[in-house]
Amino acid sequence: MSNSNQTPQDATFQQIGELLHSHQSFVLLSHVRPDGDAIGSQLALGYALLAAGKSVRMINDDGVPENLAFMAGSEAIKTPPAEPLDVEIAIALDTATKPRLGEKSLKAASKAKIWINIDHHISNPKYGDFNLIDAASPATGQIVYQLIIALGLPMPAESRDAIYVAVSTDTGSFQYPSTTAITYDLAADLIRRGLDVGTINSNTYDNFPYRRVELMRALLNTLERTPDGLVAHWEMNDQTRIDLALTPDDSEGLIDIIRAIRGVQVAVFFEELADGKIRVSMRSKDRRYNVCEIAMEFGGGGHALAAGIRMAGPLESAKSLVLEAIQHRINAASI
Ligand code: 5GP
Ligand code: MN
Repeated sequence: MSNSNQTPQDATFQQIGELLHSHQSFVLLSHVRPDGDAIGSQLALGYALLAAGKSVRMINDDGVPENLAFMAGSEAIKTPPAEPLDVEIAIALDTATKPRLGEKSLKAASKAKIWINIDHHISNPKYGDFNLIDAASPATGQIVYQLIIALGLPMPAESRDAIYVAVSTDTGSFQYPSTTAITYDLAADLIRRGLDVGTINSNTYDNFPYRRVELMRALLNTLERTPDGLVAHWEMNDQTRIDLALTPDDSEGLIDIIRAIRGVQVAVFFEELADGKIRVSMRSKDRRYNVCEIAMEFGGGGHALAAGIRMAGPLESAKSLVLEAIQHRINAASI
């Protein structure tokens, strides 16, 4: 069967296994403003390869955020060195488009001869030489788990714990509809392998800095809902970030609070960034309101029910453009 020019075929686990086996040096990368799935997938595969005797570098443009610094082995993830690394293979994890790896990481990985792209974003254009894109997977961490198991790679404690954090955070604690029996089997297997589920959940979810709750208060003051109650949105301006001394990870997951309002089908979080750009985070409860498609109208991407954009400001104009596009979808779906 020949590949179409538009969509290269995915690699098989076996092909990826042969590449991992026949090379010695790797750099593992993930997206800017990394979340639990990005860092977790990197650590999971990174420590499995280290345990298999490989030379592994792990880098991220923004480093490990404070909320994930508890993860065992996370100190191995560094911000990119200024000079390109001498590595044979670059592996991008959980990253929907190549530029989302960040300029510094791309430069550091520029000597790699082969690019492997492992991800679960439906919008991923398959920018690797070898691609493993499973849009049905709730987390890249679940794909990495399946790869480790299929290839018989070692699973040290760092990898085991990282897979759990990756999958737990990307499924909203095993709640989103992408969560399947495979996901619960994965969790059960990790617990059998010695994962301390109480401690890891407590480190992930019961350990937020006070400033995050202050941010919640500021956000609640901006909360609005459309008259039909279908869309809820809130926003954060740059002054709030300065006043509360926020770091980018402080807002991670807060959108779930407005997503959880009864009747709300689409939740949106507008965040003014230090460079004046606007970060838009969207969640949907209904596949008819595909927020990935809305995000792609503005150059963003993600999943049908969770997507994001980085777009030009100012805040007010980004807001009206995105809210209008959402309203358009809702009107079209109700015909
Ligand atoms: P979040 O709202 O949690 O930042 O992101 C939700 C989903 O949308 C994630 O899967 C994330 O990778 C994707 N996403 C967020 N921001 C962007 C963006 O600017 N561009 C693209 N392509 N995807 C994004
Ligand atoms: Mn993910």
